[in-house]
Amino acid sequence: MTTTLTPPEAATRAARPAAAATEHFDVLIVGAGISGIGGAYHLTQQCPGTRFVVLESQETFGGTWTTHRYPGIRSDSDLFTFGYRFKPWMGAPIATAAEIRSYMAEVIDENRLASHIRYRHQIASASWSSAERRWTVEAVRGDTGETVRFTTGFLWMCQGYYRHAGGYTPDWPGMDRFQGKIIHPQSWPQDLDYAGKRVVVIGSGATAATLVPAIADDCAHVTMLQRSPTFFATGRNANALADTLRELDIDKTWIHEIVRRKILFDQATISRRSFSEPEVLKQELLSGVRAYLGPDFDIEKHFTPRYRPWRQRIAFIPDGDLFKAVRAGKASIETDEIECFNETGLLLKSGKQLDADIIVTATGFHLNVLGDIAFSVDGKPLDFASTVAYRGTMFTGVPNMAWVFGYFRASWTLRADLIADFVCRLLKHMKAKGVSTVTPALRPQDQDMKRSPWVDPENFNPGYLMRGLHLLPQQGDTIPWLHSQDYWTEKDELPVADLDDGALQFK
Ligand SMILES: Cc1cc2nc3c(=O)[nH]c(=O)nc-3n(C[C@H](O)[C@H](O)[C@H](O)COP(=O)(O)OP(=O)(O)OC[C@H]3O[C@@H](n4cnc5c(N)ncnc54)[C@H](O)[C@@H]3O)c2cc1C
Repeated sequence: MTTTLTPPEAATRAARPAAAATEHFDVLIVGAGISGIGGAYHLTQQCPGTRFVVLESQETFGGTWTTHRYPGIRSDSDLFTFGYRFKPWMGAPIATAAEIRSYMAEVIDENRLASHIRYRHQIASASWSSAERRWTVEAVRGDTGETVRFTTGFLWMCQGYYRHAGGYTPDWPGMDRFQGKIIHPQSWPQDLDYAGKRVVVIGSGATAATLVPAIADDCAHVTMLQRSPTFFATGRNANALADTLRELDIDKTWIHEIVRRKILFDQATISRRSFSEPEVLKQELLSGVRAYLGPDFDIEKHFTPRYRPWRQRIAFIPDGDLFKAVRAGKASIETDEIECFNETGLLLKSGKQLDADIIVTATGFHLNVLGDIAFSVDGKPLDFASTVAYRGTMFTGVPNMAWVFGYFRASWTLRADLIADFVCRLLKHMKAKGVSTVTPALRPQDQDMKRSPWVDPENFNPGYLMRGLHLLPQQGDTIPWLHSQDYWTEKDELPVADLDDGALQFK
């Protein structure tokens, strides 16, 4: 039997001083979030004997689930698919950040990964030398301020897609006049006293929808102020199929696999219907909301988005908690725009004044491209925007590096597992070939292909991506240069991708 480490225990046990001399590892994983811990697991299973290290700037693992500490923080994906392929999820589908961290702690503990992880290591630069055929990585230690140096044959980038140091707050006129507190959920002060206070939460995404019901009972009143509505799905936080299979005492690994397949199948159906019958799907989602709020609530104004369902992630509201808080009069929704902040709150474009003691800006993230690390190749600074992505994970002209960028509409981790398989297969392929460098490069037939942004803005367009799209790598219009964001094609294509089709150059 394994013992489960709580996050701080795991962190303490893993932390150890870095050697003053440069250390070399076959693989260096950046980030100990769900992708980095998954990558470490797959390396130990699929490439045993590989010497690797995971460098993480924070003092413990978890990534997103450690950074975000606002009340109510939870997943909006189900954990059967947000959890790893290899580790059964035993709880309710929607999980709190603490539950996700415990699940990750078990993965670290059961697979003895802790000794591979170095916390409080903020990577500042990474430079590739073709002569030495390796990356030199410099990290600043959070505890001592010392700069430490590593070299590695392969960089496995699992640093996510947004800056962990702080969230994005637009610059509204009059913010400095406001006499209350302005808080971004990504930097939620743990001692923030909101009891009996009037709170306005600006935003309409999953964060706002989670936060509002979580604080509604304690606040005097909480208002969710949104510029435009979002689609929400609602239902019980339970999976009937998993419950039945558990009752039948089916093996937990089978249950995990069967329930994953069923959820993915159902999601594919919804995705298809968002194109084939968007209006029917829209009405179904709205009727879920209406069932909680009743016929007199202005669903048209507050919960009917202008876009087609699925163009942005549909947030799941377990047990309708947001709508119950609205129905109980503890929370309300304003759909309006901010004219300015003033001393007592917000003046809206409609002329309405919203007074508040605390204003929470659930307004998104700062996209960061590959961990805000200064990259260079043979002394030249690397501009990722000028590269073309190979299967949405490697980049032209950038040797020995893969980035785990998960799915937006399906669970992120589905792709983290697929990319991990791909990286392990690539490393084994290189070993078998007796080569030490792999660099994606456009072949003659790829030179004139149409290039487009990293993700198609017509298809998926959240604010943080649109603000930073010009900084991200491009994609092409044919395999292997497409970044389809489609689990259903990638799950079949990636495992058999031809590594010798000329798009990867080996040396
Ligand atoms: C509030 C919130 C809820 C979400 N809910 C869901 C959901 O339900 N389902 C879903 O699929 N997706 C969700 N997402 C998206 C989510 O970020 C990903 O699903 C997933 O957690 C990302 O995991 P990751 O390990 O790739 O990156 P992250 O979780 O971002 O972790 C990256 C890690 O890398 C570290 N790091 C970054 N740069 C450096 C550096 N230079 N040096 C050292 N370390 C570095 C960071 O400190 C961090 O610990 C959510 C995102 C947010 C913000």
